[in-house]
Amino acid sequence: MKLDVDVLRYLSRDDFRVLTAVELGMRNHEIVPTELIDRIARLKHGGTYKVLRNLLKHKLLHHDSSKYDGFRLTYLGYDFLAIKTMVNKGVFVSVGRQIGVGKESDIFEVAREDGTVLAMKLHRLGRVSFRAVKSKRDYLRHRSSFNWLYLSRLAARKEFAFMKALETHGFPVPNAVEHNRHCVVMSLVQGYPLVQVKELQNPGVVFETIIGIVVRLAEHGLIHCDFNEFNIMIDDDEKVTMIDFPQMVSVSHRNAQMYFDRDVECIFKFFRKRFNISFQEIVDDVGGSDEGRVEGGKLSFSEIEKSAGFLDRELADSGFTRKDEEHIQRFIEGGAESDTNSDGEGVDSVKDLNESNIIDGDSSHLLEQDDRYESEGKEESCEAGESSGESEK
Ligand code: ADP
Ligand code: MG
Repeated sequence: MKLDVDVLRYLSRDDFRVLTAVELGMRNHEIVPTELIDRIARLKHGGTYKVLRNLLKHKLLHHDSSKYDGFRLTYLGYDFLAIKTMVNKGVFVSVGRQIGVGKESDIFEVAREDGTVLAMKLHRLGRVSFRAVKSKRDYLRHRSSFNWLYLSRLAARKEFAFMKALETHGFPVPNAVEHNRHCVVMSLVQGYPLVQVKELQNPGVVFETIIGIVVRLAEHGLIHCDFNEFNIMIDDDEKVTMIDFPQMVSVSHRNAQMYFDRDVECIFKFFRKRFNISFQEIVDDVGGSDEGRVEGGKLSFSEIEKSAGFLDRELADSGFTRKDEEHIQRFIEGGAESDTNSDGEGVDSVKDLNESNIIDGDSSHLLEQDDRYESEGKEESCEAGESSGESEK
């Protein structure tokens, strides 16, 4: 995804005003009626229409006239709103090269005024769905289809909250700097994703460190759920940093055991294949450092769960609510449906809306999914899940 930040410089206050009006309108509308945008933006002398044309030209908005005349934000439009806010807050002053393309995010370098380089993650939840198997009936019953804007915002909020809490508890994670909308700014990790590392001085030590992290996470009440060679960064000194937290769950989750086993198995499998560490060596290593937790060559989750700590409860106070977690999990586990034939909410109700209820409206009713990307399933196996997760380093 190209992020032409030069455009930022050419955008006026009115441009951002109209862009924000579309964002507000999207709380209740899949496509925001042009007339409504004009009413929210309140530019003089029909200024909104001229601005809309400009925003369309720069691909910050998408025009749709299939049902009625209206607009919606594109990823780029949403990116610009978040970036503008970050710049206004003084979080960074410029955006540099793209350093990662994840399944559901784009990662860029950004620079502070003093030249410090940070990493900016733009969440794109809904770009691909997490599972091939979707529960259509469940979706219809609970109306669990959310738009990508809302989901991406939730993912960012969750990632930020988890990263902060994990850092506080001494886990090797990036420093969480700031978040806004679907955007998280964090410290730049030196090094490479483990998947790109062909050789290690001390594969045994690195392996133990990594397994130690999974175990300690569980002791703190959490499971990463996507713990694999794409989400573990390693630097020249073979120091390990864990990244990518939107899918983490509590050890009290009903599938906790399965997620935990899958995380551990991913690591076992990767080290076996890449570094030829034999299964016995692995068991001996882990058995030595985590006595009582290895049963028949497997880490025993029940032993760990018994001592589960407080981190998941602590997170509940971080601004990332239980309701947020329910919504994001419903999407991750059930897969959100693309909703082109929605129940029509927001489509015929333009006349009933006034500005205040748009602004105060609950955004959880959003019913749009970006249709530019084909839905595709996330494989259960570790490697297939992130086939596009290579960084450019
Ligand atoms: P996704 O959820 O899309 O998989 P990730 O958080 O795993 O996104 O990031 C994708 C890639 O971007 C990573 O594999 C890594 O190469 C790079 N990346 C992510 N965060 C950082 C960071 N803080 N510092 C350096 N590189 C990063
Ligand atoms: Mg990742």
